[in-house]
Amino acid sequence: MRSVPTLAPGPAAVECLPSPVSDSSPRQLLLFDPQPRVRARIPAREVAVHKAASLAQNLARDLGMPVRLSVTDNRSTMISFRRAPSALRLRLHHMFLDAPVPVVQAVADYAGRGRSGAGRVLDEFIKREQPRIRQERDASDESFSPEGRFFHLDEIRDTLNDRFFQGGVRASIGWGRVPGRRRRKSIRLGVYDHQTREIRIHPALDHPEVPRFFVDFIVFHEMLHQLFPSSNGPGRRVHHPRAFRARERAFPLYEAAIAWERQNLRALLQR
Ligand SMILES: [Zn+2]
Repeated sequence: MRSVPTLAPGPAAVECLPSPVSDSSPRQLLLFDPQPRVRARIPAREVAVHKAASLAQNLARDLGMPVRLSVTDNRSTMISFRRAPSALRLRLHHMFLDAPVPVVQAVADYAGRGRSGAGRVLDEFIKREQPRIRQERDASDESFSPEGRFFHLDEIRDTLNDRFFQGGVRASIGWGRVPGRRRRKSIRLGVYDHQTREIRIHPALDHPEVPRFFVDFIVFHEMLHQLFPSSNGPGRRVHHPRAFRARERAFPLYEAAIAWERQNLRALLQR
């Protein structure tokens, strides 16, 4: 049985500079990678950061070059790397945080020195640690599908992205969970999460009486959030800065969308 430690709020990314042998505390920079989604099966953040720091430090010392390490909970890619002149960029599954010395050496040989023979040691280790690889998409994935009964959100996002953003918005998109049956005073038709780059659209919009241009408008609005992050106004957060609102009004059916929302919000709330 596998125990699941505290939910880590984000995979750890660690950067280490190689240290001269005499220096026992090499300069290191701890940071968190805000990009990939977070999984419960990643060890607790403090533990992961600590282990990742010492792993990166060992690799950097071994290779004599800076190592930028990101720890993942990938299902298919356990190790990937890019050798840049300034540093080795390495992405490792969290199983490697507990790897024995010969395996760490194999990582250095394989990723840092390009010795493909070391791949065998890595393959064996990965095979042995197979149970630590997440097998299934978890519950939050299941409820996060772009496929609706009436609207396919990924198609809508891609069309808007080409038409209004030169393909520059990078966000996953899906329908939110169907909320519990209780009276609501307000409804959030869409939400954008900067951490995970996810757009969630309220499932009430996946309905034949909702016009396509209105779903387009809500998705468009959430995509704008990636372009115009909230700013700090005097004493408050401004979620929709002036530039955001200007771009929003440039949506071709802006007036119609606002009017549709006003006229149909009550029906949406009751759905
Ligand atoms: Zn908004």
